[in-house]
Amino acid sequence: CFKCVRFTSEVACEGDLGAFERGGHTQIATGIGEAVKNEFSGNIIEICPVGALTSKPFRYQIRTWLANKTASVCNFCADGCNLTLWTAKNKIHRATSRRNDQVDQGWICDKGRFGVDLVNHPQRITSPLLKKSGQKIEISWDEAYEYASKSFKTIKERQGGTAFAALGSAHCSNEDNYVLQKFFRTVIGTNHIDHRVFYKNPLPGSDSSKFQTSYSMTNSIQDIEKTELIFVLGCDLTVEHPILGLRVKKAVNKLGAILVVANNRGTKIGKFASQEIIYKFGSEVSFLNALANQLVEKGMVRSEKVKIQPDYENWLKNYSLEKTAKQCGINALEIESLAKLLGESKSCLVLIGRDVITHSYNLDVVEAVLNLGYLTGLFGKKFSGINLLWEYCNSQGALDMGLLPDRLPGLIPLSDKGYRAKLEQAWNAKIPDQPGYTLKQILEAIHRGEVKCLYVLQEDLINNYPDREFVKTALTQLELLVVQTILPGELTQMAHLVLPGLSYAEKNGTYTSVERRVQKTQAAFKPLGNAKPDWQILSELSLWMQGPFVHYSSQEITDEIAALVPGYSGMQYDKLTFSGDRPSLNGQPDISEFQLKRTEYRPVAASDKYPLVLLTGNLVYHSGTLS
Ligand code: SF4
Repeated sequence: CFKCVRFTSEVACEGDLGAFERGGHTQIATGIGEAVKNEFSGNIIEICPVGALTSKPFRYQIRTWLANKTASVCNFCADGCNLTLWTAKNKIHRATSRRNDQVDQGWICDKGRFGVDLVNHPQRITSPLLKKSGQKIEISWDEAYEYASKSFKTIKERQGGTAFAALGSAHCSNEDNYVLQKFFRTVIGTNHIDHRVFYKNPLPGSDSSKFQTSYSMTNSIQDIEKTELIFVLGCDLTVEHPILGLRVKKAVNKLGAILVVANNRGTKIGKFASQEIIYKFGSEVSFLNALANQLVEKGMVRSEKVKIQPDYENWLKNYSLEKTAKQCGINALEIESLAKLLGESKSCLVLIGRDVITHSYNLDVVEAVLNLGYLTGLFGKKFSGINLLWEYCNSQGALDMGLLPDRLPGLIPLSDKGYRAKLEQAWNAKIPDQPGYTLKQILEAIHRGEVKCLYVLQEDLINNYPDREFVKTALTQLELLVVQTILPGELTQMAHLVLPGLSYAEKNGTYTSVERRVQKTQAAFKPLGNAKPDWQILSELSLWMQGPFVHYSSQEITDEIAALVPGYSGMQYDKLTFSGDRPSLNGQPDISEFQLKRTEYRPVAASDKYPLVLLTGNLVYHSGTLS
């Protein structure tokens, strides 16, 4: 029927399958010596109507008509593709697409399709483990809670709440993360809370302006199909966000959108671009300032709402075409033509990815993009906007749930007395008013002997943080390391207490995707062994500590989030449909108070000893270490 051939050429736009020979001799095959290599290859199994293409890990495992099917959401990247999990005998056997036209249009990438075996891993931790004489021994939940609560009380009485720090996870549900920060803010009394394990200088920083508190996508995924110009900046889109990559390919190939890709290295999405600009590593700010200069110099700033001070205009002149082109290692014409496109397009969507988020001067780059957005009138324009693409399935939710040392849920600054008082009243407890430490500062504080206890929720701190040895030496200095996770590893080996949590497939909850779509997941099968939902472990710990709260269901927590977290109102669990909803927190920022910033170019320092720069990133089939 050629469905598979058409999928690879018309949807995935890779053309790695073809129909060879003629008539009755026609064969579906790849080119000689080639394989189907596109990141959406598994979809051809799902659309093959005759079972000619089958899934190697799945075929003949179970009778499909006897399997239970559960609606879920992918737990890898932040795109939030909808899945159906096929389970039998407490095991996931496969994941297939559950079409949601607002998100995935019925396609899922191979990571989401084949990565579910993580849940069935034979080494899953199913009982609490206590370290005794260098060995881990299985203990009961009561023993685990008693040990944890007594140790917490001892440290707290001796050194106060600031001797504690907590690390949440961009792979856990909103409910898990919400209860984690609530526990540490109210029961323990610390704001040393973070989740941004991949970065040493994370966004949003404490110095991020009010305007940038909308760190997220301002557009929907569907807007990608409706815009005229797509500008991908510092993002390996097909790897970091496969579904967004698919939408961009569709917008370009079928709907006539213009694509410009700019990064410090070539990426796969670049071959679909009408212009691919590869600038020198670290020269982003200079490149963006030069674009702004071109817009002003050539009179392409047309909106009367845009106010440019003469001294700002003079400052921009420092970023002349020739000088900047040299700094960036590109041709001046590349800057000129992109500025023209930005100035003339009726709508433009900017997608910013990991290479900006992990940049040494990430805040400067974001500010420079915002300047550009302001000058081109992107804010408030239909199908236009600046979109910061967080990486993991609940990165956005972890931010929104307040897993930050200086912000409460809803990204509200800790210094907002009114909101803090509202939470204190609802939680019936005091919240410390001093900002806590970021993860980097937490690790430094452990080295100084200031932080004595670290609680890690489903995060592989040792392997994900950019400096393994620094983490490991810090962990050896802790008086108490509690790790709540599903799989063993170096971190659980070092932990004093290991508490078995659940994977996304075994618990109910909600996740907030890259476009701030809140989607719910359901437990597809019973928890393995004695493992418990992560929110429940924290809630029971609160009981053992005589804390001010206890929760009896994940649904109850979702409803509390809906009642208390700005932008999540109306998100009650039973009202949420399985295609999810976008809360009102999303939207175009108010530009009335926007001020152009002088984002000065600062070269990223290299030394004689270390003249090379190592760029890190994900591969499509390897998305961090998960947990
Ligand atoms: S694109 Fe992202 S969310 Fe969708 S299936 Fe792949 S990894 Fe999962």
